[in-house]
Amino acid sequence: MMPAATVLADLHRAFRDELLRHGLLISLGVDGLYGRGGAFENVIERINAAISTIGDPDRPEVMRFPPGIGRWQLEKSGYTRKFPQLAGTVYSFFGSDREHRALIETLDKGGDITVGQQMTQVALTPAACYGVYPTVAARGRLSEDGALVDVYAYCFRNEPSIDPARMQMFRMREHVRVGTHEQTVAFRELWMRRGRALVESFNLTLEVVVANDPFFGRVGRLLAANQREENLKFELLIPITSKEEPTACVSFNDHRDLFGRAWSIETAAGEPAHSACVGFGVERIALALFKHHGFAPEDWPRDVRDVLGL
Ligand code: AMP
Ligand code: ZN
Repeated sequence: MMPAATVLADLHRAFRDELLRHGLLISLGVDGLYGRGGAFENVIERINAAISTIGDPDRPEVMRFPPGIGRWQLEKSGYTRKFPQLAGTVYSFFGSDREHRALIETLDKGGDITVGQQMTQVALTPAACYGVYPTVAARGRLSEDGALVDVYAYCFRNEPSIDPARMQMFRMREHVRVGTHEQTVAFRELWMRRGRALVESFNLTLEVVVANDPFFGRVGRLLAANQREENLKFELLIPITSKEEPTACVSFNDHRDLFGRAWSIETAAGEPAHSACVGFGVERIALALFKHHGFAPEDWPRDVRDVLGL
């Protein structure tokens, strides 16, 4: 049976309080926005190193992006159409001296900073791989080998929550494949095996299920149904606060030619390129480790510490 929402909320709050008390997360006064303590960050680094150990032999090209991308890139990728509720855009003050005075008066009266604010050209990165497609597209037609990219970035999603595993700003480590349909299918199968094996080596229970992205609204429900029917998204779930409602910690996505068409990326044969990505939610994996093995990494089982090099 599913736990009642209030029971789940209590469990989330209790786990979050523990993480804050142990200095693993640091409150920034907004649900879903945290600083990270040294012990937490060390585990994140170890998880990343374990992913590198698996992925590096493939010799991916490494790309690191800031937590922002061009707003035009977010729009061109189609994100703002499908997930307007999650997208974040950066605003700043573009006003005159007169509007600055009005702003200060508003602030003095306890108002907020909306006076004179307009959107900048910067959007917050919604998934680490969004910087990859425009970069690959700018190089022209793909070679026979296609592209394989290792990418890591802070991502933003407008989903405030008391669940410490549902953050507004979190990091995603991804491998991204761009090429033919055969290349992307083989890539996803390979990483589904590797993802399972990695999480099993952390002594964590898991299941892999068909999933869908949180597309907005009525049209979104159709997109989600189609995504599930065609097995385009799988998620690796690990129980964190609840066994009945385990948390998605890794996702395996087949985008078909969605980004290939959006960015006019062509395969060597001149077809619209396919793409696929595996996304590791490194904070969620760290939280699962802390939940199951305790708040002190030095007390974790020897085999888990060995895999993580702790
Ligand atoms: P997605 O693009 O939604 O499949 O996300 C890829 C991975 O990022 C997921 O499997 C999660 O591990 C992680 N992730 C997604 N949303 C959040 C969030 N709000 N907080 C923390 N991690 C997240
Ligand atoms: Zn991705």
